[in-house]
Amino acid sequence: MKLLRIGAPAAEIPVIWHEDGSYRDLSSLVGDLAGSTVSLETLERLRAADHGALPEIAPDRIGSCLAWVPNFHCIGLNYRRHAEESGMAAPSEPILFNKASTALSGPNDPILRPAGSSQLDYEVELGVVIGAVCEHVSEAEALEKIAGYCVVNDVSERSFQLTRQGQWVKGKSAPSFGPVGPWLVTADEVPDPQDLKCWLDVNGETRQLSTTGDMIFSVAEIISYLSRFMRLVPGDLIATGTPEGVAMGMEPPQWLQPGDEVNLGFVGLGEQTQIVEEAPAPSLVP
Ligand code: ZN
Repeated sequence: MKLLRIGAPAAEIPVIWHEDGSYRDLSSLVGDLAGSTVSLETLERLRAADHGALPEIAPDRIGSCLAWVPNFHCIGLNYRRHAEESGMAAPSEPILFNKASTALSGPNDPILRPAGSSQLDYEVELGVVIGAVCEHVSEAEALEKIAGYCVVNDVSERSFQLTRQGQWVKGKSAPSFGPVGPWLVTADEVPDPQDLKCWLDVNGETRQLSTTGDMIFSVAEIISYLSRFMRLVPGDLIATGTPEGVAMGMEPPQWLQPGDEVNLGFVGLGEQTQIVEEAPAPSLVP
């Protein structure tokens, strides 16, 4: 299934992209898509429904495919060639960090450059959505815990991330730094998460072009590893790292600027397009 959320910001409704190409309103079956409503049990119930009998709705703005996330986990330096371009050694264990959950935004919403930003960057990533509680799950069982997959742009501000001391979260968390979607593609449609092609273009120029086969730690290893340190719950989102080609790795770096257009995606998981804008002045923020 390809699940998404359509409507104005904070007023989206849950939708399934039906096999006949139409969009069908799921709101008679689930309140929204987040947390327990993307558990494996709920997804099984949605799968069993007669999708063709649901009301058809017109396409409109697409929101994040998850209304909110219990946790927004991220893995750093998880592609061999990206670790090389960053001038850092390939990690011997997965590097964990977080994004603020309030960074979530729609796949085609603008990227808002925050006040004080000078090094705005992009990162196409495979998002993994957890569908069952995981604690000390084995690698062999880890993929069975996945609800689905989605495209994530791990938008980053490198000076906030790397020169302001402490954790990377500072450079990863501004509003709009987490475009997620368009779809939550259920795991049954992704037979091998280590065989997915991705790309990211800026103003039509290809910057990132890779496959998840270049990951240092596989999706199964990441879930198993995380679950040794914390409980994962349905709706948790894990951004699994980015391949080479980020602005920080260019000579000289080509940071995102207002007016730039970013297009990214994964074959089979959909694509996103964002325009970079200056964030509204603090006095205009609701
Ligand atoms: Zn990242």
